[in-house]
Amino acid sequence: MKAPSFAYAKPRTLAEALELLARHGEGARILAGGQSLIPSLNLRLSSPELLVDITGISDLKKITPSGRSASIGALVTHSQIERSPEIRQHVPLLAEAVRHIAHPAIRNRGTLGGSLALADPAAEYPACAVALDAVFTISSLRGERRVGAAEFFKGLFETDLKPGEILTAAEFPSGGRSAFLELARRHGDYAIIGLAAHESRFVFFGAGATPVFARNASREKSLEKAKAALKKDLDPPADLYNSSATKLHLAGVLLERAWNTLSTSH
Ligand SMILES: Cc1cc2nc3c(=O)[nH]c(=O)nc-3n(C[C@H](O)[C@H](O)[C@H](O)COP(=O)(O)OP(=O)(O)OC[C@H]3O[C@@H](n4cnc5c(N)ncnc54)[C@H](O)[C@@H]3O)c2cc1C
Repeated sequence: MKAPSFAYAKPRTLAEALELLARHGEGARILAGGQSLIPSLNLRLSSPELLVDITGISDLKKITPSGRSASIGALVTHSQIERSPEIRQHVPLLAEAVRHIAHPAIRNRGTLGGSLALADPAAEYPACAVALDAVFTISSLRGERRVGAAEFFKGLFETDLKPGEILTAAEFPSGGRSAFLELARRHGDYAIIGLAAHESRFVFFGAGATPVFARNASREKSLEKAKAALKKDLDPPADLYNSSATKLHLAGVLLERAWNTLSTSH
């Protein structure tokens, strides 16, 4: 099947892109790496009138580390994150997570902003962002606003983004101990269940409609109590191959591995 016909624009500046989005309202869609949007058009799951291709906006392609945080532009690709020495040094959780995203061809085009805006419940970055308490910058013709990751992910494929807005960057705190673990049927597949952990914050993905912060487990001081507390935090949906009980068991296994990693790292 082919995508329904649409108009296409490739602005070179953020201001131009915001202008186009404001003018075309709900009929316009942002195109970044296209790794999720193009298949959904080809399957005719959506039929926008206009695609606003933002990949020509060079300001959104920067990785900017500062003393206490690193800002990553929305158009930074998964491959750039994978290869960046700055990300490995400042945000090692993302450097670990990116290796689990799909395959090189998809990582070469898919972007940080696209993944966050899509908000797939089984995706790696959203959980990392919540674990790290990242802050997102969102722009529109009305100006700029900043939203914490935990408030950004609202529901299944649903975020705080409003029509006319572009996610421009995400800011991640530097340093700290972290662990990233994922169980998938094959390397590169979306996770059955996964865990992004930073200091004592445990955030699961593939475990609900959004990344799930395991609030009770994260408060506990012993592994046994933390594992027991997971029952209060998680009620993972069954998938084609795994029951909810299996996923809860697997979540406990990941928690134990992450706990051991965090307690031995400095
Ligand atoms: C076979 C396959 C396997 C995959 N496996 C994984 C995986 O294991 N883990 C994983 O996390 N992902 C996976 N993906 C998805 C991939 O990571 C995509 O790159 C990502 O979901 C979307 O990024 P994109 O840049 O391609 O966005 P696009 O497809 O261009 O856009 C996705 C959505 O986000 C919106 N959008 C994009 N950028 C912005 C922005 N800056 N501001 C506001 N809205 C925006 C678009 O309008 C669209 O609705 C897979 C994809 C494929 C095809």
